[in-house]
Amino acid sequence: MLNHQLDSLLPASLANLRGRKAVITGASAGIGLATAVQLASEGMDLYLVARRQDRLNEIKNSLLKLFPDIKIELICGSVTDANTLSALEKAGALNSPVLINNAGLARGADSIEKASLADWEEMVETNITAAFKITKAMLPQMLAQGEGHIIQLSSVAGHYAYEGGSVYCATKHALLAFTKALRLETCGKGIRVTAISPGLVETEFSDVRFRGDRDRAKTVYQGLAPLTARDIASQIVWALKQPRHVNIDEILIMPDAQGSPTKIVRNL
Ligand code: NAP
Repeated sequence: MLNHQLDSLLPASLANLRGRKAVITGASAGIGLATAVQLASEGMDLYLVARRQDRLNEIKNSLLKLFPDIKIELICGSVTDANTLSALEKAGALNSPVLINNAGLARGADSIEKASLADWEEMVETNITAAFKITKAMLPQMLAQGEGHIIQLSSVAGHYAYEGGSVYCATKHALLAFTKALRLETCGKGIRVTAISPGLVETEFSDVRFRGDRDRAKTVYQGLAPLTARDIASQIVWALKQPRHVNIDEILIMPDAQGSPTKIVRNL
């Protein structure tokens, strides 16, 4: 009897993702690319969304060589463009039970009075409007199927505001608020909702933020071991593989040398 009770406390077996379908936005680089690789290694069929077609083609070819049994469809375009949603619909991607809502960016680190309005608009359209719209487009099918998992890439910037990050932080706060409402609205309906909120992850993020200024981008990660895209993808896979009744609401994850967006201990 005692043995039986102890057996029941061994780790639960994690879900098998093989043959399930996932949409990953922003799959041509960084966290989205690492997630594509890890979900492909789990045997999932993937719809990969990003603007850089050459990159997506290369990724598809390489993944299919490694994992010949999976299916990959590419949707090339901006998540801010209505045609991209139509293309996802045409491809049958909106019926997928998994959405990794990852495409996003920061632009610049100027103070509010100096920042560019065009940069603000790009961040708002990509990180907020597009992320909300794709969630709305996939949710009815998930509800009808009584299952789904929506993973939103927020940030520590969704928890804290910092100087020079006003609108980027505002977009990630907005995404987190939307995600909390989504979680409440879908609670008990078979839909799981997870926010992933990373601190410093070394990807193309800072190159994009500083418009290709490599030296400036590198200083962001100097003197510490930042998180890697692989670290974040592993968290995403772990959240997806939890037993059916377990919802990971949020993973707030930083390098050990970071305690907040502004508390970073560097060995320089
Ligand atoms: P990244 O290396 O720059 O990758 C961003 C990806 O998003 C690329 O695949 C890019 O592809 C895609 N993308 C950007 N704008 C797009 C658009 N309009 N339409 C379609 N795809 C678009 O950055 P990352 O670090 O992996 O960032 C991924 C997510 O994590 C973002 O939401 C970011 O805010 C969040 N995050 C990052 C960090 C960090 O420190 N790196 C920390 C916290 C949160 P194309 O250019 O080919 O379109």
